[in-house]
Amino acid sequence: MAATSANRLQNQIALITGGSSGIGAGVAKAMAAEGASVIVNYAHSADEAAAVVKEITDAGGQAVPFQADVSKEDDVLAMFDFIREKFGTLQILVNNSGIQVDAKFVDMTLAQWQKVIDVNLTGQFLCAREAAREFLRRGPQQDISAALGKIICMSSVHEVIPWAGHVNYATSKGGIMLLMKSMAQELAPHKIRINSIAPGAIATPINLTARDTPEEEKDLLTLIPYGEVEESLPQC
Ligand code: NAD
Repeated sequence: MAATSANRLQNQIALITGGSSGIGAGVAKAMAAEGASVIVNYAHSADEAAAVVKEITDAGGQAVPFQADVSKEDDVLAMFDFIREKFGTLQILVNNSGIQVDAKFVDMTLAQWQKVIDVNLTGQFLCAREAAREFLRRGPQQDISAALGKIICMSSVHEVIPWAGHVNYATSKGGIMLLMKSMAQELAPHKIRINSIAPGAIATPINLTARDTPEEEKDLLTLIPYGEVEESLPQC
């Protein structure tokens, strides 16, 4: 990874929540390679965040780690204070942090339900609200971006596909879908651009326990119709 790209994000500051592993780490490296200065947020894994930051800075990019639990309002406020102090403002939020705490529906405890909703949904609300407040406070910067600011919500195919055994997770992602659409409707007049990404299954630490056994892995793969699609695709 080297900062030899088109530098499409030059002079932009990007916060990637959960940037210490999996998809978030990939996004952090890709945005840094496009010239953005990135804040690699993490909850507990300081070593992993430091490794992502090192990979970016070794390649000539700019990155700093920041610990904050996105489900805690005080942590989120402190993270945005840090960003303003260190970088002046923010142009991009990638709302990526997420967890799975799986249980059969009848066995799911209130704590398991609440933890996933708190991190996956409330965490995205808190970070998006602070980002939007910062975009509005700072005002337009036409030389940097046509948008006042950009928010990307990491959702999942499970925003629309039910997922038995994971009702807390699927509910949080269904919530993110309408959070994203409602924010987009409300904030578009201010030129704040809001999108989400809804990936299918990707092997990362989040789904290790959902693919523990060959049976669980087979179950997970039934949600990916790629093999059948591939056969019906024309050659090119
Ligand atoms: P991952 O476990 O590698 O990454 C999750 C990240 O979230 C980690 O960096 C972790 O530190 C962070 N995190 C967890 N709790 C946090 C908290 N309270 N505060 C701040 N950060 C916290 O998993 P991943 O697959 O890279 O997941 C990233 C996002 O992608 C999640 O929102 C997940 O739901 C979504 N997603 C993943 C898949 C997949 O198959 N891997 C599919 C669809 C969507």
